[in-house]
Amino acid sequence: MSNKDLRFNSKTIHGGQSPDKAYGAVMPPIYQTSTYAQSTPGGHQGFEYSRSGNPTRAALEASLASIENGNYGLAFGSGLAAIDAVMKLMKPGDEIVSTNDLYGGSYRLFKKVFEDFGLKFHFVGMQDVAAVEEKINENTRLLWVETPTNPMMNVIDIEAMAALAEKHKLLLAVDNTFATPYLQLPLDLGADIVMHSATKYLGGHSDVVVGALVVKDKELADKLYFLQNASGAVCGPMDSFLTLRGIKTLHVRMQRHCENGRIVAEYLKAHPAIEKVYWPGFEDHPNHDVAARQMRDFGGMVSFVPKGSSYDAAIAIVEKLKVFTLAESLGGVESLAGHPASMTHASIPKEEREKSGVVDSLIRLSVGIEDAADLVADLEQAIG
Ligand SMILES: *Cc1c(COP(=O)(O)O)cnc(C)c1O
Repeated sequence: MSNKDLRFNSKTIHGGQSPDKAYGAVMPPIYQTSTYAQSTPGGHQGFEYSRSGNPTRAALEASLASIENGNYGLAFGSGLAAIDAVMKLMKPGDEIVSTNDLYGGSYRLFKKVFEDFGLKFHFVGMQDVAAVEEKINENTRLLWVETPTNPMMNVIDIEAMAALAEKHKLLLAVDNTFATPYLQLPLDLGADIVMHSATKYLGGHSDVVVGALVVKDKELADKLYFLQNASGAVCGPMDSFLTLRGIKTLHVRMQRHCENGRIVAEYLKAHPAIEKVYWPGFEDHPNHDVAARQMRDFGGMVSFVPKGSSYDAAIAIVEKLKVFTLAESLGGVESLAGHPASMTHASIPKEEREKSGVVDSLIRLSVGIEDAADLVADLEQAIG
């Protein structure tokens, strides 16, 4: 049985992996080296310089390709470095359509960096397929999707976006950071590129900053590999090792994140002091049908607004939490709480933020894999 035929819960452990050639090490060694001895100029064993390639990074890249059902994986020094490489496929004048409820750092990279290089970005609620199509013109080259969205948990129909991309001959890229390949496989749904902030669920232990791209197509992989090497934002051997170790437990962690996410979402929904809870597993979530179709489960990210909707009320809650740590980021084994308006989404102007629902009182939870009863008790004491 080749690695390709394995089921997902085995691919996380074995996908693209084989014992190290030197001594049979089962875990890939951390090849902490910048360069490799050559017997004669060009006479190397597959690696010449670690920006261009490193065996530990190559092991991670093979794992990434395997778990996303792609053929080629590329690991970067951060999620944003991975997005940066995709944007460098574009030329001045090219247009990109993306969601209006986007990770703040992606928005900042698009607006504050790439607009100055002549790219044009349109931000629309991509749950509305017709609204996306309205923004497409002869200069459009790329659809950039993030689903579920951060922090509003909107769900975008990847197959519908793939149909638009095919009709208008566009590239479709999906930021799969929130869902992970445990929950959804964008390449199987018609995307050309999957992107990850592996800093989050893939690494899973809040101990690295790493980014990833996975594609099926060889020509696209070659272009991205060229950019990865030419621009140089690669992921180091130690971080590659840690991310690979994280991926080996992705399926068990995700299963628990989903179970705890449901318990926390349902607790908040029933709480009299909570105004609104955003979680795609609720049947009355506006995109629940799409979520149920394209995702295996609904994940561990939950956002909510306390009643009275004040900035101060939200701050008071996040300051009182003890098991949940007030911190940026998500996807680690430990539960985190964030206040998007002042933290992850502060780089988006207030009017833009509020248009997509990121009000000053919104709180975002990354529900970890602790005992759910402790998480609920912590919320109980903080909300009162
Ligand atoms: C964190 C995050 C990013 C950026 O990744 P970094 O690893 O922090 O550079 C991009 N997209 C989403 C959805 C994220 O959560």
